[in-house]
Amino acid sequence: MSSDLAAFVRGLPKAELHLHLEGTLEPELKFRLAQRNGIELPEKSVDEVKQTYRFHDLTSFLRVYYPAMRVLQRPEDFHDLAFDYLTRAHAQGVRHVEMFFDPQAHTGRGVPFPAVVSGYRSAIARARRMLGISAELILCFLRDHSAEYAMATLLEALPYKDWIIGVGLDSDERGNPPSKFDAVFQRARAEGFLLTMHCDIDQQNSIEHIRQALEDIEVDRLDHGTNIVEDDRLVELAKSKGIALTCCPVSNSFVTAQMKSDEIVGLLNRGLTVTVNSDDPAYFGAYAADNYLALAEQAGLEIDQLAELAKNSFRASWITPARQDQFLREIDAYVAGNS
Ligand SMILES: [Zn+2]
Repeated sequence: MSSDLAAFVRGLPKAELHLHLEGTLEPELKFRLAQRNGIELPEKSVDEVKQTYRFHDLTSFLRVYYPAMRVLQRPEDFHDLAFDYLTRAHAQGVRHVEMFFDPQAHTGRGVPFPAVVSGYRSAIARARRMLGISAELILCFLRDHSAEYAMATLLEALPYKDWIIGVGLDSDERGNPPSKFDAVFQRARAEGFLLTMHCDIDQQNSIEHIRQALEDIEVDRLDHGTNIVEDDRLVELAKSKGIALTCCPVSNSFVTAQMKSDEIVGLLNRGLTVTVNSDDPAYFGAYAADNYLALAEQAGLEIDQLAELAKNSFRASWITPARQDQFLREIDAYVAGNS
């Protein structure tokens, strides 16, 4: 039964909307890029790198996450990272992805912005050609750095505006509320970018941060945001504005010791556009379909609810309404053919 469900979930057409490209660095690729770029790692084998991919909270995760990025140096490294991810996503039934990247994590260590974005861009073009999967880029600002640095990064990105669909906000939320970046997001909106941002799980001031994102910044989507379940007014506001949440069950279980499945399914049942995503799959050991399956097993989801989550992933995406409709019909046909 469980293997039937796994096969069903894997074949279910889906979009992925909460995915950090830098969080897709598998130990094998990290080791290979280090060798290619002549970078000495403390670990002497792929297995030793794997041993370091073990976490019990956000702090121990971030301690491995940022230093690992130094193996990414040239456009071809960023290409390989994104293409490897898109290949894995495609194998899990993902048909469209809107992917975060953190330019400051690279430019801050001397890698030029164009090297990052051109590498990612070439992987997107190749994956579209070879696999038929579509993908867009979302530029994330690191919220534990200054608003001025975020604004400078936004200005640096403007010549590449056509390659970047939206902007987001990630990294350590503590003491770094959405309001800190109000001017940056208003400028991004004026430049034509769509807006999303992380409101992480169980933060200090989670509800106030969600309120700021919805009412002051007026985001188009919310990343995580699961704590909204604690505030009926904000749930109704998100519903009336058509704001979707990008939830990440397996990631939640790493940073809070639980998937938050009751909250996610509760919000789905209340009619919010809830989606399921993988966040940093190389580090949390679960890609898109693995997250659907983990949630299904934890919460006892039925086929109809899984199909609704997959439909939500396209409804919440930034593809055209015509393409959304096409995917919704495809999901209906898939479900009909598998029940
Ligand atoms: Zn995230």
